[in-house]
Amino acid sequence: MAGSRPTLLGIPHDASSSFLRGAAGAPTLIRRALASPSSNGWSESLRDLTNATGLLDAGDVDLSPDTEPRAAIERAALAVMHGDGRLIGLGGDHSVSHPLLRAARSAYPRLTVLHLDAHADLYDEFEGDRHSHACPFARIMEEGLADRLVQIGIRTLNAHQRLQATRFGVEIIDMRAWAAGVRAAVDGPIYLSIDLDALDPAFAPGVSHWEPGGLTVREVICIVQDAGGHVVAADIVEYNPVRDPTGVTAFVAAKLVKEVASRMLADDGALN
Ligand code: MN
Ligand code: MN
Repeated sequence: MAGSRPTLLGIPHDASSSFLRGAAGAPTLIRRALASPSSNGWSESLRDLTNATGLLDAGDVDLSPDTEPRAAIERAALAVMHGDGRLIGLGGDHSVSHPLLRAARSAYPRLTVLHLDAHADLYDEFEGDRHSHACPFARIMEEGLADRLVQIGIRTLNAHQRLQATRFGVEIIDMRAWAAGVRAAVDGPIYLSIDLDALDPAFAPGVSHWEPGGLTVREVICIVQDAGGHVVAADIVEYNPVRDPTGVTAFVAAKLVKEVASRMLADDGALN
């Protein structure tokens, strides 16, 4: 049975990025922002994430050249989930969500995926790569790793991905619908996947794909705090330090780590 402590797992993998590398450097810098004395270790719901019942850190997945990255990521995630952990995967590019969901599905037979992103990531293949960071949610749906996939923040659909969404039954709240007030109704165990480019690049420039017209930091925090269901696993992906000269996006990611961890602790309390 999966445990209850929110646990970071760094995944320094950006070999599946289509446009720019750099996301492999994210886990170290997000941890540094989390530990920065410029803020404290409490969530907005007044949970101290630095105390003995707070946030754990399982370190980084070993992705040395002789390992197969997806298998290594899945194994490391399984170790967290079948230990005492609620997984918070720190990418890395978004391709890491496929092996993370494989692990999550084995730990939680019922699972809704709530996916925040500028992009649907539903390509059948991208530039010849079926495991590109443009494809993970096609693989996830083909393998039946989610009962429902609900996407928020999408603003780059094209004809192919629209067809893919229909084929897989993906529920998309694109930015136009979001701006018109449409919200997600989800319940049960939730896997929360946050691609930082769901945020407007005005708030989070440290991503590889700048796509204006996105969510505010506060809107994403509200989703994390108030979405239905209970959050059993999460990932925060696509932070690219190369595009973040001021470092502000690392602090956005760290803020989201704290709120996701706090949400996991709140949901565990409600379930006990
Ligand atoms: Mn993505
Ligand atoms: Mn994206």
